[in-house]
Amino acid sequence: MILLVDDSRAQHALQEKILTTHGIPAAQIRKASHGEEALNCMRTDCPRLMVLDWNMPGMTGLEIVRKVREENKEIAIVMVTSESDQQRFIEALEAGANGYITKPITSNSLWEAVQPYLT
Ligand SMILES: [Mg+2]
Repeated sequence: MILLVDDSRAQHALQEKILTTHGIPAAQIRKASHGEEALNCMRTDCPRLMVLDWNMPGMTGLEIVRKVREENKEIAIVMVTSESDQQRFIEALEAGANGYITKPITSNSLWEAVQPYLT
């Protein structure tokens, strides 16, 4: 199971298309629009990978990383961000994120970021 967390439906659709194009069955993909929903999905669906938007209303991606890691050390977390500040990336990695990609995402950038966690 892969969990896509983003407040943008367009991002959900784009990321799902990229993943299914690379052979991930659509039935293996879940989507959440905000932090609470993401945490509920994490608890019920046990995804092995979370693709997590940094900028969302309510909990930020960074706050979600911290909450996820309080409960779950196994799930891989790839952050998606438009932030250019290197310090913020370091903060996310220190909080327990496994990697990050920068918007606008491409088919290659998303796949390269997530593929190591899918085998
Ligand atoms: Mg966003």
